Amino acid sequence: MRYVTFMHKGEPRLGIVRDDAIHPLPASAGTMLDYLALSRRERKALETKKPVPLKGARLLAPLRPRKNVFAVGRNYKGHAEEIARARGIELKLPTVPTFFTKAPTAVADPEQVLHLSPDVSPEYDWEAELAVVIGERCRDVPKERALSVVFGYMCLNDVTARDLQREHGQWFKGKSLDETCPIGPWIVGTDEIPDPGNLDISLLLNGETKQHANTNELIFDVATIIASLSRGMTLEPGDVIATGTPDGVGFARTPPEFLADGDVMDVEIERIGVLRNAVAIKRV
Ligand code: MG
Repeated sequence: MRYVTFMHKGEPRLGIVRDDAIHPLPASAGTMLDYLALSRRERKALETKKPVPLKGARLLAPLRPRKNVFAVGRNYKGHAEEIARARGIELKLPTVPTFFTKAPTAVADPEQVLHLSPDVSPEYDWEAELAVVIGERCRDVPKERALSVVFGYMCLNDVTARDLQREHGQWFKGKSLDETCPIGPWIVGTDEIPDPGNLDISLLLNGETKQHANTNELIFDVATIIASLSRGMTLEPGDVIATGTPDGVGFARTPPEFLADGDVMDVEIERIGVLRNAVAIKRV
């Protein structure tokens, strides 16, 4: 199933997408985080309301995480290689996932114009990523069982201020500016994607392909990421994990490329869909 949060009669509402229609859940279902806290039986008991056309609906971020978005750095070999090349350093592939986080206030909606200040950074960059939404409270999850704690998957664009990422040493600041974490356009449940290990992923900038890979190229696959992150640390329903970006980011290109005012980014993932965001980079 495909789960959306959308504007319905002036309020955010949960819905299930079937074909070209959104079937709204009752307002009592609350937010996506409330919905994820329900048992499977309670979720099933909710009856959907009269469908509305998907076309023209204003989709919101499928969920607003209550804590930082977890993310994995340098998780595609091609991306690790381009970083080493761009920085003139020796390539050393990570032996454990490099975790960092993005502030929850960075989350943005599908189709939202991302307002990025040129005074804060001149180096905004794109990063297409597969994002995991955790469906149950869990800890010390063995790799073999890790996919069973997933609720679903969505597209995520880990927009990054490269100069801040570099200058601050720790990546958090350069990864957490407002409107730099669009997610969506919906969450595709594990009933539709039982195994996320073979999905084409790309980023198009103004229609031109900048990144293209497949999740079968991840250094640490989704199950390994969950097993590693949950070791000694509780994960909760609604936690989001960005799994890393392929090669083709802007800063590692020759010459480097960064986002410009009016650019349009599409993160496209097979069996999920397209997350589109334009950027406005203007002095205000
Ligand atoms: Mg990233």
